[in-house]
Amino acid sequence: MHLTFDDGPHPHWTPFVLDQLKLYDQKATFFCVGDNIQRHPEVFDRIRREGHSWGNHTMRHESGWTAGTFAYLRSHLECDALTGTGLFRPPYGRLTKGQARAIGRRDRIVMWDVLTGDFDRSRTAEACWKATEQALRPGSIVVMHDSEKAGERLEGLLPRLLAHLSAQGWKSEAIPMPRWEPAGPLSGWNQTPEDSHTRLALRS
Ligand SMILES: [Zn+2]
Repeated sequence: MHLTFDDGPHPHWTPFVLDQLKLYDQKATFFCVGDNIQRHPEVFDRIRREGHSWGNHTMRHESGWTAGTFAYLRSHLECDALTGTGLFRPPYGRLTKGQARAIGRRDRIVMWDVLTGDFDRSRTAEACWKATEQALRPGSIVVMHDSEKAGERLEGLLPRLLAHLSAQGWKSEAIPMPRWEPAGPLSGWNQTPEDSHTRLALRS
């Protein structure tokens, strides 16, 4: 199954989530807003260092239904320049067919089947947990929010959810990133331009 967190990075709630995931040895996927990556780059780095995956949640968290398609695709591309993994989740789950077609050519669009409701201020953490527990299946994609708005409920919900996964022996895995090649000795990141030129020449 896959735990996913939208709307970060947030200076308090993202580290809270990362600490909890570490405690229970689980991996997750963070759909990040570009503006928040620029505000909190050190938090974004921590997501990447700790073995999670991450994706594009647009630059400014627009709704695809109200933003014009040109502005929406520009927001997607701006965030792609910061995230670049080929995973995308539309804010509010709202896209037009044209937007979905254009973005689907580059990215895997990741929705969810378990909505925890942590963003809903009229709910308690207890109510979010009950709804989540009932909906949870092996293979589920669960959506939560590392955001100011959801924090209060997330604080109650996430530790219970993680304890439940442990008790069931369930693993949350980071959703694989289709376009991301991590830096390493063979990826080309550590090579000088001459080296990569040699490599290309050898291949031809
Ligand atoms: Zn969102």
